[in-house]
Amino acid sequence: IKVDVKQVGCVGVCNQVPMMEIHKKGEEAAYYTKINANDVGDIIEKHFQSKSWMSRFKNRFYNYAENLTFSDIPKSSNRYNANEEHSPISEFLKGQVNIATEYRGEIKPSDFEEYLSKHGFEAFKKCLNELSADEIISEIEKSGLKGRGGAGFPSAIKWKMVQNAKSDQKYIICNGDEGDPGAFMDRMLLESYPFRIIEGILIGAYAVGATEGRLYIRAEYPLAVKRIKEGLEICKSKGLLGKNILGSDFSFDLKVFEGAGAFVCGEETALIASIEGKRGIPQLRPPYPAEKGLWDKPTLINNTETFSLVPYIIRNGAEAFSKIGTEKSKGTKVFALAGKIKRGGLIEVPMGISIKQIVEEIGGGIADGKQFKAVQIGGPSGGCIPASMSDTTIDFDSLKEVGAMMGSGGLIVLDESDCMVDIAHYFLSFTQEESCGRCTFCRIGTQRMLEILEKIKIGKGKLSDLDLLEQLALNTQKGSMCALGGTAPNPVLSTLKYFRHEYEAHINGKC
Ligand code: SF4
Repeated sequence: IKVDVKQVGCVGVCNQVPMMEIHKKGEEAAYYTKINANDVGDIIEKHFQSKSWMSRFKNRFYNYAENLTFSDIPKSSNRYNANEEHSPISEFLKGQVNIATEYRGEIKPSDFEEYLSKHGFEAFKKCLNELSADEIISEIEKSGLKGRGGAGFPSAIKWKMVQNAKSDQKYIICNGDEGDPGAFMDRMLLESYPFRIIEGILIGAYAVGATEGRLYIRAEYPLAVKRIKEGLEICKSKGLLGKNILGSDFSFDLKVFEGAGAFVCGEETALIASIEGKRGIPQLRPPYPAEKGLWDKPTLINNTETFSLVPYIIRNGAEAFSKIGTEKSKGTKVFALAGKIKRGGLIEVPMGISIKQIVEEIGGGIADGKQFKAVQIGGPSGGCIPASMSDTTIDFDSLKEVGAMMGSGGLIVLDESDCMVDIAHYFLSFTQEESCGRCTFCRIGTQRMLEILEKIKIGKGKLSDLDLLEQLALNTQKGSMCALGGTAPNPVLSTLKYFRHEYEAHINGKC
């Protein structure tokens, strides 16, 4: 059998991997899931053995094939047709909208020609040949794009600030320093769509007048670093980076900077300090990086997902993006769906979808027949939303109203067996450990909070400790300089608000 083997980027269906997709001319594609490397040869051989195989055994397990004896069949694999209804793959992908993850599972990440064949660099060429910098920024503004790194700041405002800044040198930075427990959105985007991210950065640089850029990627993501570096080399060789790009008067150079694993370096001023070779700690703002950023020059800094959305907006027009989502939160959001869910993975959903739809429809509900208890959303600084409020929609404002936040996109599902005091303790110990130590409340307030939580966990707490815990949390929110300390108390405050009875049960020796 002559078979072309093609490596593709992340499909997002982490719950079914390792997965192999077979395309046979004239037939519907088939997915073989949870395969074992040793089975691959067998699966291919059996797949091509019988012409009528696909039509006769449309549903479910490979093991049902009549013309094969059980001993012939690779036992670890399940088979689904691409358009098969109610398969775990179609159910998982059904409610999703792919913009940052456009052509998921279809394109080979480092194949430049394939990226071109899927409209790659069309948006950048449109900017170079047809649009002025003002028109590009106006398109971004009309799209309603907000930064996907956590704060949800309107991207066009940042872009305009950098564009208007007067300087002999401007920089652009892509923030790929993803360090939240349970989050892998940036990683997947960087590994799977290197050219899309480079194209988004090129558009941003051209619009604001930056001539140099950095892709800040955490060193713990070696494949992401490798793919981006390969992508940069290819772009250079194709005239898309360097001097006089594609014969224009726009020159731009882009390099990778590997972060050394400090969570706080995801904060933009700490990230800039880190690139400058200084200790990665946040700085007081203003001045904002848009005015005085890398090496004191105006700097546009956006998150990986934000840049990956830009080519789609420019190529298809602002309205194609803004018609998705809610009035104030436009487009889509990528989430790492993890925890006690049947179908975890990487999802891209339209803003305005409810938590319940994500958990039940995309995720297939709670694993092992247990009860849905809560979701922890927004990374370690996010909040816990109880199952009773799962009609809450995914948009910047609704999540803030219930004491959580969009964050960068971690979504951890919890079931009845999870203790919310443990959850609050886990996330707070993460942020406490990652605090840079500059502000007293973030450094010591979180430590005192942890001590109280530890006391409560082992049944030595008092009811009055809960008031103290709350007071410390509120003061830490107010007295911290950056978002790490400002949001670190969120898991504690949201669990105190919605699951106070669990704290009391610990204190009263009832669990
Ligand atoms: Fe550092 Fe925490 Fe202060 Fe942020 S809030 S600057 S992480 S001490």
